[in-house]
Amino acid sequence: MLINLHSHLEGRVRPATAAQLADAFGVPSPEGGWERAIRLDGPATLTEYLTRVASTYPFFRSLDATRRIAREAVEDAAASGLDYLELRFGPATHVQNARGLRDAVAAVTEGMQEASHSTGMPSGAVISALRHHDSETNEAVARAAASFAGKGVVGFDLAGDELLYPAHVPHKNAFALARSAGLGITCHAAEAGPASAAREAVELFGATRIGHGAHIIDDPALLRWCADEGIVIEICPTSNWYTGAIASVAQHPAPLFRDAGVKLVLGDDNPMQTGTNLRDEREVLQNVLGFTKTDLDEIDRVSVEAAFLTDGERSALAARLAH
Ligand SMILES: [Zn+2]
Repeated sequence: MLINLHSHLEGRVRPATAAQLADAFGVPSPEGGWERAIRLDGPATLTEYLTRVASTYPFFRSLDATRRIAREAVEDAAASGLDYLELRFGPATHVQNARGLRDAVAAVTEGMQEASHSTGMPSGAVISALRHHDSETNEAVARAAASFAGKGVVGFDLAGDELLYPAHVPHKNAFALARSAGLGITCHAAEAGPASAAREAVELFGATRIGHGAHIIDDPALLRWCADEGIVIEICPTSNWYTGAIASVAQHPAPLFRDAGVKLVLGDDNPMQTGTNLRDEREVLQNVLGFTKTDLDEIDRVSVEAAFLTDGERSALAARLAH
């Protein structure tokens, strides 16, 4: 089963769509064309990686373009054989007033729902607050996300530079707003920051899932705590390699999490930059990191359990898993 629980909309813009939108909007073509501007040839630095993701940001200023990008992202995911996709989007990168945030979230959910309807693959939007934004902005993002709870938005997240902006307290209210709207809670944490960041995200935000969480393995007590509390770690091995966080996929800590009894789910993070997809990530687990068929079955089971689905949708996915 292919369940993708960590993927960013901004990392799923087709180069061909970028080229068309650039023509329409008068955005200057980057040297070497959009394919080169978006994709990485191989592992790079985090800065280089983020520059490629950010090359498509100008297009998200248009609601029509945002809707199209969201629709195509879900269509591409369905075409790659996914059974379910959660797609993250950080609207305050592109617009910051309350009305603009709501409109941007609406455009994303409309595009996703249109494609889910035409392809039959369920999907849900996870709205990301950003670490470098202030409390007020992130609370406005949470309100925009909350107004689409049950209408396409399924979760809330915090993303961005964890080294420069490690503080969690300023974003506590944003997460409280999201939680009270019934949204699922995840958080990029302990990716660049220390293991303790993951526990803070759980205790301050109510996160049930942690994005990346690679540094949790530096602290055996915290690793055990994650296993005991049933915290789910969203792993994206190829992305961690391409950002330079690990020297090769063979160094990914997934086996250490597995051996400690920590629940794992998979994502492809920014597939247009890395050229990967969820099937490739499973192959990395199996062929490079020594995951057995039983280990992968366990990831499927945890994914169905940890996805931000309604109970009805979860049962439908669980029923497919049983066959
Ligand atoms: Zn991410």
